[in-house]
Amino acid sequence: MNGSPSPDQLTRPMVDPFGRTIRYLRVSVTDRCDLRCFYCMSEDMTFLPKKDLLTLEELDRLCSAFIAKGVRKIRLTGGEPLVRRNVMSLVRSLSRHLGSGALDELTLTTNGSQLARFATELRDCGVRRVNVSLDTLDAQKFCAITRWGDLDKVLAGIEAARDAGLAVKINAVALKNMNEEEIPALMEWAHGKDMALTLIEVMPMGDIGEGRIDQYVPLSLLRARLAQHYTLTDLDEDTGGPARYVRVAETGGKLGFITPMTHNFCESCNRVRITCTGTLHTCLGHEDASDLRKPLRASPDDDLLSATIDRAIGLKPKGHDFIIDRRHNRPSVSRHMSVTGG
Ligand code: SAM
Ligand code: SF4
Repeated sequence: MNGSPSPDQLTRPMVDPFGRTIRYLRVSVTDRCDLRCFYCMSEDMTFLPKKDLLTLEELDRLCSAFIAKGVRKIRLTGGEPLVRRNVMSLVRSLSRHLGSGALDELTLTTNGSQLARFATELRDCGVRRVNVSLDTLDAQKFCAITRWGDLDKVLAGIEAARDAGLAVKINAVALKNMNEEEIPALMEWAHGKDMALTLIEVMPMGDIGEGRIDQYVPLSLLRARLAQHYTLTDLDEDTGGPARYVRVAETGGKLGFITPMTHNFCESCNRVRITCTGTLHTCLGHEDASDLRKPLRASPDDDLLSATIDRAIGLKPKGHDFIIDRRHNRPSVSRHMSVTGG
């Protein structure tokens, strides 16, 4: 190290070697969850010991360091973010950056099971939109997919969020022989409530004790099926994210496709992720990882942390290439989605 970084270095926007400015931070606040979706977790998941987790204060400090370095949008995720004890204190403290104008958006991705409890408080903290993951409207299938989830709780959570004035987007993972036939009904339901629906291809992440190939259905196929009954018009929106949207003429609603397996969305990627242990992943599809917990704990000021972040951004890969290893039926990225937060 040759001295401390200047204040300017601490706050300089993060630009990776491919000219992409990092504006979006996804934060997994816990690896735990009250559900066990079969494509995401094994039934007998081993969770991290609590001592490995960053405290909520440390998560706040980490997020604030990223905001100082140009992040404009933060999404809290998990595991299930709303099962982390006292998570609302983090949401509340981060909301000061919305108040100051340093942050444009604070949002979260949730399975909705706890949303009825927290919707109003989220709105009061400046959260305006939430993504709720829901793969089916069939209570039995929902229970099978999540291993024990209660669909009614999630539906009540969605209604509570809407009543509180939050915009809700539904995310559904397309699952072969499970919900693929139901996609039109799910879309009609979501659009009927003025909620966008985004379909997600199953990604080969983490060992879940079951074959990935059995779950995978390409969204190109689902899109082609939908196009037989609906008029889909491409929308020219670049969110910097992996979703591509169409407008559905018959419902008036928006439908998104996240296709990491069949479409490369890396050129415009403006995001990085941190896990609940403070590990920075600059690409969802790579094993790259930088430990931010050490520099965070090593010193009360952010110099070392900022330098570590800069070094990691300087190594952000150009893109990823997910492959389901057909011979061995193994995931191509060994960490679970619930660790990186999707
Ligand atoms: N528990 C919250 C939820 O379910 O919304 C947040 C975390 S969850 C890991 C985030 C998103 O990742 C969810 O929409 C979930 O369906 C999706 N997901 C989990 N495992 C996946 C996989 N292997 N492939 C594609 N999407 C996955
Ligand atoms: Fe939990 Fe979300 Fe993973 Fe389902 S997808 S097991 S709700 S973290």
